[in-house]
Amino acid sequence: MLSGLDWLGAGCCQVCGVSSAHTVCALCDAELLRNQQACQQCAVPLEQAADAMLCGECLRNPPSFSQIFAPFIYQSPVRDWISQFKYQRALHWGRWLGTELGQAVQAQQLTVDLIVPVPLHAARLCQRGFNQSAELAHWVSQQVQIPWRTNILQRIHQGVGQQGLSRRERQRNMRRQFRVLQTPAVQSIALLDDVVTTGATARAAAQALRRAGVPRVVVWAVARTPKPNTSFITAETMS
Ligand SMILES: [Zn+2]
Ligand SMILES: [Zn+2]
Repeated sequence: MLSGLDWLGAGCCQVCGVSSAHTVCALCDAELLRNQQACQQCAVPLEQAADAMLCGECLRNPPSFSQIFAPFIYQSPVRDWISQFKYQRALHWGRWLGTELGQAVQAQQLTVDLIVPVPLHAARLCQRGFNQSAELAHWVSQQVQIPWRTNILQRIHQGVGQQGLSRRERQRNMRRQFRVLQTPAVQSIALLDDVVTTGATARAAAQALRRAGVPRVVVWAVARTPKPNTSFITAETMS
């Protein structure tokens, strides 16, 4: 198991550089773009506030998961930290992101019986050397005191090369992406992922678990990608 504990850069905020016991100081933390106005089911950021609102996609094509919870919008600087963690093995960011997600889950009083990180395809795992979702699951689990397991779900296809296929064919391919290795005797599972982009992976993984007999599947992710052309007031546009 990898861990962010070997990181020696503690002592100053990684954003503004002030002396801080935290990776991100309280002032910088308060400026991060949080996903507060979102579809109640798939957490896609919405431009207009509305109570109990579902996005068009969830209304037209209801997903197999009950809900996605993603506290951040996938924008800089959280986006940069996720990619440093994923592609440059900046494990201290994994620790920070996982702990933040765990704290946000606690603040919302969300709970499940088991956490299952979204698996990588074996080839991708070899290439990257670690599964970022499993690393995050470790830190979320530490924070919320819910067990996590990796031997539940297997990814058998990458889900690439979808161009030129019909919607139905694409959906069928996505569905075949995951195989359930064993169905745990639990009432609810949180699938853990770093980012939810289109929601297609979350849909496919949740569907596999639901079909295997898990009564309730939710998704916990660090960040949610907005739909193209959605405008937000970000730190970049403000300054
Ligand atoms: Zn700072
Ligand atoms: Zn939605």
